[in-house]
Amino acid sequence: MSARVVDLAPHDAEGLGAETAVALAALGPASTAPRRAIVEVMLAASRLQTPEELLHEARIRAPATSLATVYRALERLDAAGRVKRATLASGAVGYGYCATGHHEHAICLRCGQLQPIRPCLVADGPALGGFRVTSHVLDFYGVCARCAAESDEEGVAG
Ligand SMILES: [Zn+2]
Ligand SMILES: [Zn+2]
Ligand SMILES: [Zn+2]
Repeated sequence: MSARVVDLAPHDAEGLGAETAVALAALGPASTAPRRAIVEVMLAASRLQTPEELLHEARIRAPATSLATVYRALERLDAAGRVKRATLASGAVGYGYCATGHHEHAICLRCGQLQPIRPCLVADGPALGGFRVTSHVLDFYGVCARCAAESDEEGVAG
């Protein structure tokens, strides 16, 4: 018995233009600078971020961005199925952009790393005794390789 090892590759840069269009469409026809900034920040991030972190980053691009705008944008993106959220080890809730197209996730609860996994790990579907599977959602929560290495070092030092 050998476990299948999945390579965790970052978001592909080629798809970013198309995803930006998808995200802006989800936010509504009036793509103001703050909305655009929030989308750009989320698409560029490879980890979950708190609304406050999103605000901080978005303000660098669009100083008029407010926390209310961040929450409204998150709501709309979420309604369109484009948001992945998780409660991190710190207790904060982090939000990340979830690209179109079926995929799984590996989410580090320590640093918030959000790693899409493609292709699907269970493409053939499990055998569920007559139950016909039409869709599934599968996410893995844990500690990423970098955070695991860091906590090993801490263990040695302490
Ligand atoms: Zn996703
Ligand atoms: Zn991590
Ligand atoms: Zn899948």
